[in-house]
Amino acid sequence: MDELPALRISELSKRYGNGFQALSRVDLDIPAGEIFALLGPNGAGKTTLISIICGIVTASHGRVLVHGHDHQLEYREARKLIGLVPQELHTDAFETVWATVRFSRGLFGLPPDDAYLEGVLRDLSLWDKKSTQIRMLSGGMKRRLLIAKALAHQPRILFLDEPTAGVDVELRRTLWEQVERLRQRGVTIVLTTHYIQEAQELADRVGIIQQGQLRLVEDTAVLMQQLGRRELRLHLEQALDQPPADIGPWDVRLDRDGEELVLHFDAQTDTQLIPRFLARVQELGIAYRDIRTSESSLEDIFVGLLNEQEAA
Ligand code: ATP
Repeated sequence: MDELPALRISELSKRYGNGFQALSRVDLDIPAGEIFALLGPNGAGKTTLISIICGIVTASHGRVLVHGHDHQLEYREARKLIGLVPQELHTDAFETVWATVRFSRGLFGLPPDDAYLEGVLRDLSLWDKKSTQIRMLSGGMKRRLLIAKALAHQPRILFLDEPTAGVDVELRRTLWEQVERLRQRGVTIVLTTHYIQEAQELADRVGIIQQGQLRLVEDTAVLMQQLGRRELRLHLEQALDQPPADIGPWDVRLDRDGEELVLHFDAQTDTQLIPRFLARVQELGIAYRDIRTSESSLEDIFVGLLNEQEAA
């Protein structure tokens, strides 16, 4: 076992040429084998952080150790240990899948290992596309190819920059399964995401980044318990003046001039809560024509966090 964490980030700051402070003194250790989700709104600094670690952007201050290798002083050793799955594919559209992954491996100076690459493509359900040109792949296959490319040189740490932004539910599930499989092989995974659910499903720990500062690092289960809220909205047939007093022990309120009855509950709550609530609504003779449920957004969580910090 490594004594050092897979990643040790110390006092990392970035000020871009135009004076914009994109990262401010970020400290973070990520142990080997962990799945870490970096959550944050647009422009929070997630891509900047990943780009510094991967040597694409230069830090203004601070240090990163990748399995003990300084990301600047020992750039080649450090970079070899990292696989990066960017948001978009920048590759020759006329190349085949097979040529692309072989080339990616060669870039890191590794000898060819066709058996390994075959395994990677099989895992990603791309083996039967190995002779296909990239331009002929579907969007979902291109996403998977990005992962295959990043894995071609057998990295120990994989960075996934918003892996499921804009993909359909089915592909999201497939990608999540692949991340889980990599974890089982001991690969450390750092992913950025806007989606709470993604972090909840996959990550051991979550870091919340906002305006270039790492505001919080927490076990996912703890974070979801503390902050994850869900909402169920009933669009009523007839508006109410006030919530029924005898509805039950729930956090219920009215919205939109009494036309919507809103239930708030913990994201981790028992699965029978919604049926029980709806049964009670029916018992009370409250008619509704539509139901919507939603998870608390990252924004809600931030608002909650900021309120907490202000109150402290
Ligand atoms: P997103 O979720 O939209 O990808 P992000 O959290 O990854 O956002 P970054 O791409 O790291 O955010 O950007 C952080 C901030 O730094 C943004 O305000 C962005 O406009 C700014 N920024 C990024 N690159 C540069 C640059 N080369 N010069 C100046 N400012 C930049």
